[in-house]
This record gives sequence, C-alpha cells and structure tokens, in this order.
Amino acid sequence: MKVNPNYQTKEQLLDLYNKPLLELVFEAATIHRQFHNPREVQMSSLLSIKTGGCAEDCGYCPQAARYHTNVEAQKLMTVESVVEQAKNAKANGSSRLCMGAAWREVRDNKDFDNVIEMVQSVNDLGMEVCCTLGMMNEDQAKRLKNAGLFAYNHNLDTSPDYYGDVISTREYEDRLNTIDNARKAGITVCSGGIIGMGEAIEDRMGLLMSYMQMETPPESIPINALVAVEGTPMADQKPIEQWEMIRMVATTRIVFPETVVRLSAGRTKMNMEAQALCFMAGAGSIFAGDKLLTTPNPDFNEDKEMFEILGLLPKEPFKDAEQPISHPDQKILDRKEKEGHRQKELEEARMEAEKNGFSPRKVSNVDAL
Ligand code: SF4
Repeated sequence: MKVNPNYQTKEQLLDLYNKPLLELVFEAATIHRQFHNPREVQMSSLLSIKTGGCAEDCGYCPQAARYHTNVEAQKLMTVESVVEQAKNAKANGSSRLCMGAAWREVRDNKDFDNVIEMVQSVNDLGMEVCCTLGMMNEDQAKRLKNAGLFAYNHNLDTSPDYYGDVISTREYEDRLNTIDNARKAGITVCSGGIIGMGEAIEDRMGLLMSYMQMETPPESIPINALVAVEGTPMADQKPIEQWEMIRMVATTRIVFPETVVRLSAGRTKMNMEAQALCFMAGAGSIFAGDKLLTTPNPDFNEDKEMFEILGLLPKEPFKDAEQPISHPDQKILDRKEKEGHRQKELEEARMEAEKNGFSPRKVSNVDAL
C-alpha cells in the first residue's frame, strides 16, 4: 500500500492533519507498526560536498550566492576527504550518507566524474548513498545509478501554489522532471518539504498531494522545519511550533504507509519529548552529525543518548531494498585513457626534444620573459 486509499482529496488530508493531536498520533503509530519496525530509526549523515555559490534563489537557502550570509563558497571536496567523512559517519552509527552539492544542475564535467567516484567509494563502504545535486537529466541519472547510487534527493519543498513565493529561478515542473529521471534510472526517490516558510496548512497538504499524484510516490520523504538564516529572505520567519512538525510527520506517515518519513532539519529547536512523539508518529530516520549542510544539528552523542533513553535502535542499511552494485563508469575510463595518451605524447615530445639538445629549462626561461 504505497498510498493510503482512505485519503484522496486535499479536504480529507486537511481533516486528518487537524485531527485532535493524540488521535492523529495514535492513527499514525498504528499504521507505522503495520509497515515498519517502530524501534528502528535510521541515522543518516548529510555532507556538503560543494558548499555555497549557488546561482538559484531558494528563499530559505544560505548557499544562494545572491544572499549575504556567512556561508563562503567552496570547491568540490576531494574523493579522499569524502570517503574519510563517510567512514567517520559510519563509525558513529550512520547507515546512509547524503552528499549535497550547491549546484543548480548537474553538468557533465570533471566535478561530476568526481561525484561518480564518490558514489562508488561510499557504496563500497556498505552505506546507502544518496545525492542531492540539483536538476539532472536521464543520462546523468543513469551514470549515478551505474555507480551504485541508492537514492536521489530532490525536494518539492512546498505546494505548486506556494512554490513561486519560495523560488523563482526554476519551475515546479523542472523538479518533477528530475524526480522522474531518477525514477526512470531505477534510483529510489527521496523528496520532501520544508514547513514554516510562511505557507498555509493547505500548502503542506498540497505538497503531499503532489506526491500522491505520482505513479510511484517517494520511498523517502524528509520533513524539514525551516532553519531561518540571517541574510536570506526568510530570516524573519517565526519558528514553527513543535506540534506542527509532529502533525506533519504523522499525516505523511498515514498517507504513505510504506515510505520512510525522515525527521530532518530543525531538530535543534525540538526537545526530546517532541522528537519522541515524532518517532511514535512514524518518523523512521534522523540526520545525525552536528551539521546539516550549513545549518546546525544535534551532535552524534546527543542522539546516541536520545536513542538509549527512548529504546531506539539504529537501522541497518539496505533493509528496504538491495544494495546497488557499483560498476565502472565508461566516460571516466575513456577520459582517463585519453589523459594517459596525452601524457604519453607529452613525455615522448619531451624526450625527443632532449635528444635534440633542447633543454626544457631554457623554454621555461623564455616563457618567463
Ligand atoms: S537549495 Fe540548493 S538549489 Fe536552492 S539555492 Fe540552495 S543550494 Fe541552490
């Protein structure tokens, strides 16, 4: 049961969301127990592999180049440092690594080749690998799948009606296309939203309606609370009440019984009791580690203590679907072969020049003049 047949219209979703809170949590907990082990919660880590300098204008995002925030643009991390961070996250109990790049879209260049290598290497560690790289086409999705990507994250963020108040640099339709491309390549879909951006409850339900209308709804729906960052257009948004997060998690759980509902950004503003109600209501995952891309998050030790107190168990990887196999990437192999040839040609030219009494040192001196 991918979508609960009892809820088909926005009015039904609104009635559900507005139910007396404990009734709502009880209904969500009942469904959660039918489809998931309620003691298991996946610990996932979110790593910003390319921070800041993004051309888009998402109103909540400190990584957009046009906003004056304290996020500094950085280059793509190296494959080695990503693997090191992944090992560290795994040692701390994470079974999934989500790698985020502040890109408008994936480009077919060396950076993307490096991301492909990151996916292969982290998948080899036995972790579920998720990427969030902006828009991508079908061919790029296929390369990621071939490298062993488990999930692609691309949030719809909010309803189609409110979307224009949040982002103007790309359309809702663009997002749906990227999700479709991931789906066609056989990658599982992670897509969710942010609450507390000034939207109405109807918009929150409108977001869920968008997922209900998909042929296959996402396997993973992260629910984020806005982390209002100074310098962004949403800096002055009032924080949401904890109850709203619990209602949103519970409603999502009831409507999509098989999906993993992820309690994502905004946990630093929630006490343990509110988080416990979210787990009761069906949240099956948290992001662990002290940073969520660029915004704060509870650290590993705090979460370990919470797991102990609540009797939760970190969920093992690949319990919902098989681990993908990492295959070599033909484009990278071709590029490396070309680079090898070029290197060989340069070497031969250098040796030939030396044989003819030509000193490369003199060349560099001439160049320097
Ligand atoms: S959310 Fe992503 S696409 Fe939007 S500005 Fe931030 S980094 Fe760019």
